Amino acid sequence: MPSPKDMKLQIAYTMLTNPMFEGMFASMWGEDQVPKRPDSLVDESIAEFVKRRSGGNKKPVENIISAVLHGIYAGDVNQLSARSLMSELWAWEGEYGSLTQGMVRSRRARGGGPPQPPQPYADGAVSQELGERANNASIYTFQNGGMQAFPDALERVIREQKNAVIKTETRVSGIARSEDGKSIQIKTSNKQPAQSYSHVLSTLPAHQLAPLVDIPALALIPYVTVMTVSLYFTNPDLVPTPGFGYLIPQSVPFSQNPEFALGVVFDSHATPDIDAGTGTKLTVMLGGHYWDGRSEKELPTPEEGQKMAERVLERHLGIKEKPDVVRARLHKKCIPQYTVGHHQRLQSVDAAIKRQFGRRLSVGGAWVDGVGVNDCIRSGVFQGMTLEKGYTGLELALDGKEELKAKLPYGLVA
Ligand SMILES: Cc1cc2nc3c(=O)[nH]c(=O)nc-3n(C[C@H](O)[C@H](O)[C@H](O)COP(=O)(O)OP(=O)(O)OC[C@H]3O[C@@H](n4cnc5c(N)ncnc54)[C@H](O)[C@@H]3O)c2cc1C
Repeated sequence: MPSPKDMKLQIAYTMLTNPMFEGMFASMWGEDQVPKRPDSLVDESIAEFVKRRSGGNKKPVENIISAVLHGIYAGDVNQLSARSLMSELWAWEGEYGSLTQGMVRSRRARGGGPPQPPQPYADGAVSQELGERANNASIYTFQNGGMQAFPDALERVIREQKNAVIKTETRVSGIARSEDGKSIQIKTSNKQPAQSYSHVLSTLPAHQLAPLVDIPALALIPYVTVMTVSLYFTNPDLVPTPGFGYLIPQSVPFSQNPEFALGVVFDSHATPDIDAGTGTKLTVMLGGHYWDGRSEKELPTPEEGQKMAERVLERHLGIKEKPDVVRARLHKKCIPQYTVGHHQRLQSVDAAIKRQFGRRLSVGGAWVDGVGVNDCIRSGVFQGMTLEKGYTGLELALDGKEELKAKLPYGLVA
């Protein structure tokens, strides 16, 4: 794969000669000759969308796109929604009839040049320096404690507020509007009487929120299960080609990937400054959509996961050494899948929230407008900063760009 550090000519050469990119340029060339979708088509899978726009060429989907979707969603290119996950391209086809035309015209509308990065908060919420660093970063990590540093910092700030209470080890077991409609009653697992709140911001996963409210569309949002196996080797020289890692496309046959690996991250190379340790650190991701429909018993144990990961590393990278430390963890129902029809499901949830909760409940989290940590934070910030407006939180995914711009609080961009 080309690296951003390569010279432009080198990148072009790799893209023209590497079998991974086979058929990509040919399909881009004729894209604007492909007829526009019929008005009756309200969504389709990413595989169908890209194949259709590529004049039937399957290679880009099977090789590049399915691999990228494994890395982000652990999802199936044949099921994920083009309308929800390629919303800009989907809109371009609808508006201009082709993606090539859409790209040219939107570039022209911007006055040429690449899209401008969002401006950092100017009100001091985020420093200028941090904002600029974030704009220019393709990856960020947390030193001292990893991702846990983030909730820890949030907890510290919230506990300093006199009007805030954090209840740990307490599950929400019911959410209902009061009879007079002026508050929301929250029941919790600690057997205390239900408490009343003027507004409730939920960031629960859709499948966890579904049994607490009477909104059937929530239960229709599928989730995948992923096992991550992190391996540490004292030998620092095990990765043959340093880089971020690799993702495994759906075109790789079962015989070469019987463990259903989705990809491998070279942590010691991708994030070398995260701690002072030397050696090789790798994370193997297994399962995702390949495990759809499996019962609990059919999912691997951590011990089985470790063996599977070691087999993947030996087959793909030739690593025969035994790791010095291994942590295998099964993340059940951990990534929401924006499958075909996701947009309509969100519309249905949006209407039900307005009807049942009179704009006192809003929702956020990975199933709303992107599964990345950034997306979840943005969704939560939107909920918090628009509390008084009575939005459902789903405006982020459902509103058109201009409509949304008018609703976004200062600092968030459409
Ligand atoms: C293996 C893996 C790797 C990933 N890698 C990346 C990455 O590199 N970069 C990136 O940006 N994103 C990554 N993601 C995605 C990202 O981590 C998640 O999408 C995001 O953290 C989800 O945040 P959330 O707040 O929506 O949900 P969660 O983090 O799942 O939070 C939901 C919370 O709700 C709580 N809860 C559930 N039910 C109840 C209840 N009834 N009452 C009270 N509380 C309840 C849960 O305990 C949980 O704390 C990855 C995800 C996975 C699974």
